[in-house]
Amino acid sequence: MKALFPGTFNPPTLGHLEIIQRAARLCDHLVVAIGESPHKYAATFSVEERMSLLRALTKDMDNVEIISFSGLVIDCAKDLKVDFLLRGLRNGSDFDYEYQMAAANRQMTGIETVFLAASPLYSHLSSTLIREIAVNGHRLHGFIPDAIEAEVFAKLSTITK
Ligand code: ADP
Repeated sequence: MKALFPGTFNPPTLGHLEIIQRAARLCDHLVVAIGESPHKYAATFSVEERMSLLRALTKDMDNVEIISFSGLVIDCAKDLKVDFLLRGLRNGSDFDYEYQMAAANRQMTGIETVFLAASPLYSHLSSTLIREIAVNGHRLHGFIPDAIEAEVFAKLSTITK
């Protein structure tokens, strides 16, 4: 089975990585798709930067591929002929949003969304929180993977508040 894990990943966190690792064990091929979503978040990290960060984190995972897409997730899913969508669920707010997206995506295409419950170790982590911490000069160990911490901190800590 082939799965699509779409997201913004601005920047990738330990929570994202944990979902990718668990999802990769559930399917033959996992495509992690970085959405451009220009209206949703200030694009702190460009798509190219997010792609390079995610590629660095998944370089030893043979069945994981990193791509970018624009437009609707369902169109990307159809183009790639994936079997299902995959998303992480942290809490009730995620559920409200995800329920709406999953129902609309299924109504339009019949494609199912499979949810993985966030690990309690990381369920408090979001890219927004990570950006706020680093923009204010604090390091990100324990929030994002060590392999990308220096690069992400360097970029965020130069942003003027
Ligand atoms: P989006 O803008 O599409 O929500 P995000 O990058 O914020 O993009 O999240 C992508 C996916 O990763 C979503 O399914 C989200 O619920 C999940 N996710 C984000 N952070 C975590 C975390 N700490 N633990 C588990 N899943 C997470």
